[in-house]
Amino acid sequence: MKRIVIKFGGTSVGSAEKIVNAAKIAKKRLKAGNEVIVVVSAMGKTTNDLIKRSSSISSNFDKSELDVLMSSGEQISSSLLAGALIEMGVKARSWLGWQLPIFTEGDHSASRIYAIQTDEVIKFISEGGIPIIAGFQGISKNSGRITTIGRGGSDTTALMIAKFFDTDSCEIYTDVEGVFTTDPSINSKAKKIDKISYEEMLEMASLGAKVMQPAAVQKAMSNNIPIHVRSTFSNKHGTKILPEDEIENKKIVTGIAYSKNNAKVSIVGVVDKPGVAADVFEPIGKNNINIDMVIQNTSLDGKKANITFTIKREDLKKTLSIIEKNKQKLDYNKITHDDKLAKVSIIGAGMISNPGVTHKMFRSLADEKINILAISTSEIKISVLIREDLTQKAVKTLHNTFGLN
Ligand code: ADP
Ligand code: ASP
Ligand code: MG
Repeated sequence: MKRIVIKFGGTSVGSAEKIVNAAKIAKKRLKAGNEVIVVVSAMGKTTNDLIKRSSSISSNFDKSELDVLMSSGEQISSSLLAGALIEMGVKARSWLGWQLPIFTEGDHSASRIYAIQTDEVIKFISEGGIPIIAGFQGISKNSGRITTIGRGGSDTTALMIAKFFDTDSCEIYTDVEGVFTTDPSINSKAKKIDKISYEEMLEMASLGAKVMQPAAVQKAMSNNIPIHVRSTFSNKHGTKILPEDEIENKKIVTGIAYSKNNAKVSIVGVVDKPGVAADVFEPIGKNNINIDMVIQNTSLDGKKANITFTIKREDLKKTLSIIEKNKQKLDYNKITHDDKLAKVSIIGAGMISNPGVTHKMFRSLADEKINILAISTSEIKISVLIREDLTQKAVKTLHNTFGLN
């Protein structure tokens, strides 16, 4: 008998009919002779709606209460799904994070799961039951408070359940048939990928492919747990996420990812001396703002430099005010910014051994008159910053250029 964890995302449980459909899948998997553990996300856009409610009370809503609020979405979906299974004659029960418990550490809204108590659930599955575990949430062992583990976090809950319950597989049921060469919602020529390595999937996810949460891929990679991403609405085989040595046909470029809502800040005319970059970024980092790309260029006389960097658009206001507060210390001439930017990336393990990918990427964007504002690279990805309204055009162009159509 195999033990499996199956996770249903928000769009897979977005209505009563969809919850019944998910329950049917869980029942079918049980009847096929598996021990089944279900992880569920909140219905449709519930989490976004809950966040909106908090901001109608305060723009600086208390972080620990926000976690209590956000986690309620999964309380609704887990109880409805358990109820649907009971209605079908299946033994089922919902578990919230604090009930198992799922123990977390770290900050509110960005905590990490480090332990899960398994006894009660193991007893339940051995009696033929299907436990429905609320994703995205846990309880801090230190404070005893409810925490959440970052947007899209039910994927990570599923991976941690796979780890702590030592399951034979981890299946992510979602609204698309698997991981595609690019987001199928912006390019109809996107193709389903049969197998992708952890490394490539981690880059795809971190660079904007929403289909898996990056932390979940990291957990899968570090614990060597294969993932199967598949559709809730069809029976087709989806995408396997696996160690690299299990991938046969390696491509130079496997996929294209994008993220919108980027902002660029340039600090013009800072004195070019050791320590300036540290002075710029230290207070920004202390405010938990993530810096992505960085470019520094020096003036012809070598005395002044311009520092340009990118952040998430939502962090722009705070970042500008931090830099302005430091004007005296940084002694710059002016700050400029642009908040309608996107990052488009090509990802592929084959890039390591194939020179020429960079110029091919830049040439194909140039042919479409898409201007590149910043570049960053790693061994298996190249990212460019462009105007946000050109995102779809850039993705389609690169998808074609690298033979993914
Ligand atoms: P769930 O609700 O199941 O967690 P998400 O909305 O988080 O689903 O992720 C699925 C969505 O990810 C798809 O609807 C698709 O638009 C988007 N997506 C972005 N990039 C990709 C990609 N490369 N492959 C598949 N889906 C992608
Ligand atoms: N409901 C949570 C969110 O919207 C977790 C998830 O969807 O995985 O972020
Ligand atoms: Mg998701």
